[in-house]
Parts: sequence; C-alpha cells; structure tokens
Amino acid sequence: MNVVTPSTRREQVAHSTERPTREAAEDAVRTLLRWAGDDPAREGLVGTPDRVVRAYEEFFAGYDLDPVVMLERTFEETDGYDEIVLLRDIRMESHCEHHMVPIIGRAHVAYLPHRRVVGISKLARVVEAYAKRLQIQEKLTAQIANTIQEVLQPRGVAVVIEAAHQCMTTRGIHKPGVTMVTSRMLGAFRDDPTTRREFLAMIGTRGTSVLGD
Ligand SMILES: [Zn+2]
Repeated sequence: MNVVTPSTRREQVAHSTERPTREAAEDAVRTLLRWAGDDPAREGLVGTPDRVVRAYEEFFAGYDLDPVVMLERTFEETDGYDEIVLLRDIRMESHCEHHMVPIIGRAHVAYLPHRRVVGISKLARVVEAYAKRLQIQEKLTAQIANTIQEVLQPRGVAVVIEAAHQCMTTRGIHKPGVTMVTSRMLGAFRDDPTTRREFLAMIGTRGTSVLGD
C-alpha cells in the first residue's frame, strides 16, 4: 500500500516541475513534427528540434528573471516630482498558456511616484520578465501592476495591455484584427477618476470606453 506523506507529496510536485534534458525536449519536438504529419528525418527538418528548443529559451526566458530585483534600485532625488510617470507602447511578446502560440501587443505602464522613482527601462524589463512565460493576458496585466505596487510602493499603478492572440486570429474562431484590452488600476488610478482619466488620455486608447468612467 502506498502511503503518501507530506514529504513524498512535495517530492512528487518537485518531480513534475523538474526540467527535462535538452535531448528530451528535442525528442518532444520530433514527436510533434510526426504528429503534424511530416518526417523529422528529412533534410529540412533535421535541425529543427535544436532550433525550436533554442527559440523556447528566448520565448520563455522570463522564468529565470526576477522582477522584484529589477525594481529594487530606486532614486530619491526627484525634486518633489509627483506626477504620472508613463512608459507607453512597450512592445510585448508573450505566449498563450492554452495553445502555446504568440500573444503580441503593447503594454502601457504608469505609476504615481511616492518620494522615489525607478529607472524607466526597469518598467519595460518587468513587462518582459512576465511576458516571456506562458500566460493569459489577464494574469500578465495583474502581475505587472501588483509587482510594481508591492516593490515600489507608489501612490498608484496603472497597466493597460492591448494584444492580439494568435490562438484566435490563426485558428479556432479566425478573427484577425481583433485585439484584447486588459487593465489593472491600483491606488490613485483606481480611486481617483481624474488621475485615471489623465492616464487614459495620455495613452490615447482607441475604442476602449470600458476603461473610462
Ligand atoms: Zn490560446
């Protein structure tokens, strides 16, 4: 009889998330090539498993990045600057966790500083760290906003993502040109309609009345 103690259960969880070898990953690609109906041994496909695995290292590099560390270095010499800081139109590439196909779009990230600011490129790096993982857009949006709020502790954070999901544009319902818009507003952006309106005017959302008041 198998007795599952808490410690063996932990080992099973660890085992299920253990990273396979590169060779095992390449074998999995060969299996998918055969599943698609092709021959992994033909000339054009011989190097494909290696290329796919290397592409995955780029697509999913976010698992090795720590967004909290990125935001830890801040600057306090701001001469009292206390207006919105906005990084607009951050190109974003992610992958849908249901179909493992690209989600491509733009993120807008704003915060209202409280005594300190962060290097502006760090906001883009935080977007990247969460985007380069398997995602759904709603969670991605929330993760970016929540992390900035928790680490930087500003007076508010606003994140809007507009993106096209290839699982919807190239398969299934086949609706090219459709973008999904998600937002997460915290602090002043959530509580103060004026601040929220100012942010929305700054990013110039088109057809996203759902975000307004
Ligand atoms: Zn999908």
